[in-house]
Amino acid sequence: MSSSIDIKVIFSDFSQLNSSKIHRQSLDYKLLVDFLRTNHFDFTTIGQSIEKRSIFRVSLGTGSTPVMLWSQMHGNEPSSTLALLKVLDYLTHIDNHISQRILSQLKILAIPMLNPDGAVRRQRRNAWQIDLNRDALKLTAPESRVLRETFENFKPQWAFNLHDQEIYYGTANSPEPTALALLVPSADPQVQALEQRFEAMSVAGKIAFELISHINIAKYNDSYMPTAFGDWFSSNKVRTILIETGYMRQDHDRFWATNYAAVAILLGLLHIANKQFEQKFVDFYEDLPLNIKHKFFDFVLKNVDVVNNGQKIFSTDLGISRDRRDKDHFTDYDTDYLIFDIGDLRFAASFETFDCQGKIKIDLKELKLYENVNHLIEACVHKTDKN
Ligand SMILES: [Zn+2]
Repeated sequence: MSSSIDIKVIFSDFSQLNSSKIHRQSLDYKLLVDFLRTNHFDFTTIGQSIEKRSIFRVSLGTGSTPVMLWSQMHGNEPSSTLALLKVLDYLTHIDNHISQRILSQLKILAIPMLNPDGAVRRQRRNAWQIDLNRDALKLTAPESRVLRETFENFKPQWAFNLHDQEIYYGTANSPEPTALALLVPSADPQVQALEQRFEAMSVAGKIAFELISHINIAKYNDSYMPTAFGDWFSSNKVRTILIETGYMRQDHDRFWATNYAAVAILLGLLHIANKQFEQKFVDFYEDLPLNIKHKFFDFVLKNVDVVNNGQKIFSTDLGISRDRRDKDHFTDYDTDYLIFDIGDLRFAASFETFDCQGKIKIDLKELKLYENVNHLIEACVHKTDKN
C-alpha cells in the first residue's frame, strides 16, 4: 500500500464536504453540536464541562490500533477543532484508499472541543480559570478528568493533541510565519527518545517531510513539562504528536493553515496505519527549525517622523501588533494595534511593511510601548506605498 498522497486531491475532497462551510471565526459550541448531529457521526457524550456543556467523543474505524485525538483544550484555539472535524468528515464521507486504509487499521476516538466553556468565552482557560494543559497531574478541572478517564478506558497507543498557536511565530530560516508546528512531547526530564517516542518522531518527521515544500513547518520546544497532557501521555508510553495550527500570510481566517493541519492529521493516521517508522524521518523531525515566538509584527512602519511641539526631532521605525501580551485572551479578531518596538527595525519580520518617509507623524508623548496606534495604521494605509 503506497503512502504517498496528492495534497491537491485531498483539498478538492475537503471542498466537497459540509465541514468546508464552517469558518474558524464562527465555530462555536452550538455549531459543533449541530454539525455532529446533522452529519451522521457516531458520537456520544463522555462528560460535562463546569457549566454543564456536554463533551463528546466521535468513534470511527474497525482496526486494532487505538488512536485518540482531542482538540481545543484551549478555548481560543478553534482551528484545532475545525481541522479535526475536517478529518472526521473526510474519513466518514470520502470513500477512497486513504480512508479505507486508516479505518481498517485504526480504532479512532476523537474529542472535538475539550474546553467548551473556554470556547464560549474565547479564552484559553476553562470557566474556573484553569489551564487544562497544566492540569494533567492534579486534575482540578472536570474537563481534565474527562480526558484522563477516556485515556484509562480507551488505552490509546497513539495520541494527537491539537492546538492553535499565535500568528506571530516564525523560524530562523524562512521569511514566512510558521504554518504548522509539531511536537513529540518528552516523556521524562532527560528528553530521551524512548521506543514509543521514536515511533512518534518518525511519524511527525514524515508528516513534515511531505508538507515542507508547501508550507513553513517548525518544531516546538520539547523541554519536559510534567503537568502538560502531551508530556503525561508520552510518559505513559503513548506515542503522542502535538500539532499547532499557525498562520500563512494573507490567510486571515487561517483557512489554508487549517486545511494543512487537517492534511497533517490524515498523513499521521495513514503512516500509523502503515506501521513503518523509519529512522530517516526521526532525523528529519529532529532537524526541523525551532518555532520562534513573536518573530513577526503585524506591521512595521518605517521612517515615522517623531514631533515635539510641532517640530520634527527624529525619525524611527515602529513595530506594531495586536495586543498579544495576554495569551489567555488574545484572539485573531482583536482590532487594537499597539506599539511593540521602537527603533531600527530594518531586519524585523512583519506581515506588512510601510515606508512612511515623512508622510506619517507621531507625537513624542505617544511614542511609547503598548500605546494604541490604530490611527497611524489607518493613515499609513491611505498615505503610503506598501513595500
Ligand atoms: Zn493551545
